Amino acid sequence: MEQVKIIDSHTHMPSSGWEKHTNFFSCFQDAVKYLRDSGIEKAIFNTWRGVLSESREDLEKGNAEALEMATSTKGFLYPGVAMNPDFPEESLRCLNKFHELGYRWAGELLTYKIDTLKNSCVSSCKYNEPRFVKLIERCMELKFVVQIHGEPEVVDLAEMFPGLTIVCSHIGEDEFLKRLVKCDNVFLDISGRAGGLIIGRLEKAVKILGTNRLLFGSDFTGYDPQGFIARVKKAIPDLHEQEKVFRYNVLYLLESVGVKI
Ligand SMILES: [Zn+2]
Repeated sequence: MEQVKIIDSHTHMPSSGWEKHTNFFSCFQDAVKYLRDSGIEKAIFNTWRGVLSESREDLEKGNAEALEMATSTKGFLYPGVAMNPDFPEESLRCLNKFHELGYRWAGELLTYKIDTLKNSCVSSCKYNEPRFVKLIERCMELKFVVQIHGEPEVVDLAEMFPGLTIVCSHIGEDEFLKRLVKCDNVFLDISGRAGGLIIGRLEKAVKILGTNRLLFGSDFTGYDPQGFIARVKKAIPDLHEQEKVFRYNVLYLLESVGVKI
């Protein structure tokens, strides 16, 4: 396979010894090797334990191990802080820690969906609810890019915080994509679900939003990045436009908050 330089803006790493998410990879080192072998140059990530946190301890350990993974991979992995409105104090503490260390990415945040994904009875929280909005407010103050699992309330947040850069994850339905057009502070990562993989969906996202607002993402370890790489090459034949999606757009986003990776 031809190796192009690609930044995967949406991945999650396995948390060793944490059994609540079944994972093909038994350790993050194996997952990193798979990414490298797939032509990924760098990956933005948080841990499964962080993103699916069920307790304060999960959140804190999930974030702490993310910081360790970033260090031990010498920057191949760029950590996004995981936050959970059920644990606001711990979330803000972790956010501050990431900020102190110079990191400026929050997410993917998945709180709205956590209920369904975990199949548990923890109360769910929409993105426009005050307890979530409070966390986002702090992210904006600290100039973080915030990556959120795509749901209709992303548009509400984008309007509430015009100065905040939001990365909306997953290609949604046409109607949703059309609503995103007017939110010029929102970028879309093409990862996960079937959106990025079903023929026609990426083409539609390009048509509605244009390549300047799309980021390459896979939702690895849930999905194989190679499928998304193939789709980008097919749907966006122009090499320069491809490169925007593969890396330049995310580099630009990070540079806008003072980060070089
Ligand atoms: Zn994800």
